[in-house]
Amino acid sequence: MATLEVKNLHVEIEDEEKKTKKEILKGVDLKMKTGEIHAIMGPNGTGKSTLSQTIMGQKKYHVTKGDILLNGESILDMPVDERARKGLFLAMQYPAEIQGVTNAEFLRAAINARRPENDKISVMDFLKELDKNLELLDMSQSMTERYLNEGFSGGEKKRNEILQLLMIKPSFALLDEIDSGLDIDALKVVSKGVNSMRGANFGALIITHYQRLLNYIQPDVVHVMMGGRIVKNGPAELALKLENEGYAGLRDELGLDV
Ligand code: ADP
Ligand code: MG
Ligand code: MG
Repeated sequence: MATLEVKNLHVEIEDEEKKTKKEILKGVDLKMKTGEIHAIMGPNGTGKSTLSQTIMGQKKYHVTKGDILLNGESILDMPVDERARKGLFLAMQYPAEIQGVTNAEFLRAAINARRPENDKISVMDFLKELDKNLELLDMSQSMTERYLNEGFSGGEKKRNEILQLLMIKPSFALLDEIDSGLDIDALKVVSKGVNSMRGANFGALIITHYQRLLNYIQPDVVHVMMGGRIVKNGPAELALKLENEGYAGLRDELGLDV
């Protein structure tokens, strides 16, 4: 079992225009282990993406206080690629294009980067696994021969991220608004992919504005983030309550002014 723990996390970013620093996360606490799916919901601009980017180690987010522990070990000093090797995976809201690298090459390199020198995946095993997952995600073979994300439609990028997830098999996946801009069929496919990962060796943190995604990927725990803090935790039903009453309802209930 692997654990991921965020403790009293405070994060600042540089405001490039005003040349000032701004505190975005103001003491986030979160604890998860493999076998669990957690969801974070919250209004726009509340720091959800900041949290996932900070967990993954993006440089522009400065941790001023608190810690992030993977299996009890602080990862704050580790660069992104080391965190990935340790089992973290971030699906971004706006995935980058990488020119000159085919999707399949990228996937194989990513898998091998996480394996020791004497245990690289064979081409045969790689292709077998790739075929299986392409079928699951209803993706065509040709997608893997194209350059990574180049000219991919929004829906293709999302599917491709889930393909990466299925191939790389991280311990923890941070899925930031994987539902944004998806039609219902694509949403079902993406959800099927995530659900196929469910099991004792996998945990996910699903970030979303909308409850809709959580009809397809049932979370074990729902966290609500407002004003840079987790203000409420609850079971899956909390998402439904939010959908009905809105964030304003919760703001009133908790007496928040954020
Ligand atoms: P969410 O994902 O919940 O919508 P974000 O983490 O993206 O929230 O953003 C949190 C806050 O940080 C917002 O107020 C946003 O305007 C601000 N922010 C995010 N990135 C930057 C940046 N590069 N420069 C200045 N402010 C930023
Ligand atoms: Mg946002
Ligand atoms: Mg966001």
